[in-house]
Amino acid sequence: MKLSKNLTLFEFTHAGSGKKFLNPKQHILTPVQLARAIDLANVCFQPIRNYINSLYASDFNMPEIPLKLISGFRCPALNLQVEGSKNSYHMRAQAIDFRCLVKGKLRNDLIIEAIKVLQIPFTELILEYGTMKNPLWIHLALDENNICHSVKRATFFKNKKVIQHLFIW
Ligand SMILES: [Zn+2]
Repeated sequence: MKLSKNLTLFEFTHAGSGKKFLNPKQHILTPVQLARAIDLANVCFQPIRNYINSLYASDFNMPEIPLKLISGFRCPALNLQVEGSKNSYHMRAQAIDFRCLVKGKLRNDLIIEAIKVLQIPFTELILEYGTMKNPLWIHLALDENNICHSVKRATFFKNKKVIQHLFIW
């Protein structure tokens, strides 16, 4: 099943390492979770992908520039394993971690550009590690009842994840 043109339900529920899935049955979405996933795919993921492809695919001489999901839906057990936040939007099927690779090069700056230019609605955006301009991956969460555009930066400090709020990004 497709959540949007270029995002499948399988990708959303199985992104990341398969070894981490302790109980595959917990990875079946409830109707409410599925509706949230479809919303996230169509309001956030798909417009970003369309933007990057319409502007840059021909520049890079590529038929399509894919966006790769690193993490989508997480059951509580999986969230615990990956040390996700206690109230992670991933457990509510309202968040994705994803990245843009162009010919092997990380181009998450293109995702950031798309979010800014298209004014994508979101609840939480985290620029995860890497640099501000080109993070290692992008965490994007959408709760339609709380479009607050909270932008955060995740870095490591003394081997611990540190999250800061950003007012300019
Ligand atoms: Zn995330």
